Amino acid sequence: MTAIPPHNRSEVMYDSFGRHLHYLRVSLTDACNLRCVYCMPEDIVFRPPATLLQDDEILTLVRVAASLGVDKIRLTGGEPTMRRGIVELVRAIRAIPGIRRLAMTTNGLRLAGLAGQLAEAGLDQVNISIDTLDPTKFRQITRRGNLEEVWRGIQAAEAAGLQPLKLNCVVTRGFNEFDTVELARLTLEHNWDIRFIELMPLGRVSEFQQSQVVSSAETRALIEAALGPLEVVPGHNGHDPARPYRLVGARGQLGFISSVTEPFCEGCTRLRLTADGKLRLCLLRDDEVDLLNPLRAGADFETLRQIMAEAAYRKPWGHRLENAEIARSREMSQIGG
Ligand code: SAM
Repeated sequence: MTAIPPHNRSEVMYDSFGRHLHYLRVSLTDACNLRCVYCMPEDIVFRPPATLLQDDEILTLVRVAASLGVDKIRLTGGEPTMRRGIVELVRAIRAIPGIRRLAMTTNGLRLAGLAGQLAEAGLDQVNISIDTLDPTKFRQITRRGNLEEVWRGIQAAEAAGLQPLKLNCVVTRGFNEFDTVELARLTLEHNWDIRFIELMPLGRVSEFQQSQVVSSAETRALIEAALGPLEVVPGHNGHDPARPYRLVGARGQLGFISSVTEPFCEGCTRLRLTADGKLRLCLLRDDEVDLLNPLRAGADFETLRQIMAEAAYRKPWGHRLENAEIARSREMSQIGG
């Protein structure tokens, strides 16, 4: 096996471009209770549970990551709240020394019943996906969802003190580009971050995704035409993909995640662990390193540490969408965003 690269022998991981990698997104399942048109093909088949990381395997890999300086974990999916035993898994991850922030990205459908327990178990914050406030369009986009349940989930998350509360809206031409205005309006009343995400191409639905992109500039212009000027919020943290703005007098913020038109690869500090145990080095590139098989073959902690650090060093700079290179090995739902 290749030696750990010089930068990664200590307790921190750097890639070959000098980016400090300390944020791991962990996909807990590829299964979801929605079928959003921009996320997965309708006929998707979910993987058998035995092929996915088990709880003890996730905990081992998070410990390995924490020993290499990862201090922030985001649980995602598929839909992370569909994982059996999610509350106890949250508790166990939060107890791992070195993990200082534990977040979750969820569609919110199960949060009404779970938010309090998750917060009590140590979850710090949630991002909830909501692409429109119109129940009919919500059903069209998600191919089955009930908006009312998501709204109850948002309220439960707020009541549970999961903060900051962020709402994610993927803007898809022909589906919800004009609904961004009503979502943005929510920040006048609520201290929430509403983030508008450009559609990213991946896997079997990439042609649809590429044809329906709405740029952040266009979304900002739509919102400004309806609700007035947006002020840039000063002090943007370069590691946060969302560029922050505010409507005049608003309590909350608007964020624009412009992965396609204004990539932010320089500030990327992320690695991703897929539900089937692969370390994915960049969301929009297919480069992955297997951790599941070494783990199941009995690799010790130090060996896993070495595999992870060595892989991290090889993190590619960024996507190659401008060269029409699309990552096709997985759907977004099989990575977790
Ligand atoms: N099920 C959870 C949820 O709905 O938030 C977590 C997984 S989902 C894949 C994570 C995030 O990725 C969501 O905010 C979703 O809207 C976003 N997403 C899915 N497909 C996308 C795409 N093609 N481009 C940009 N964002 C996407």
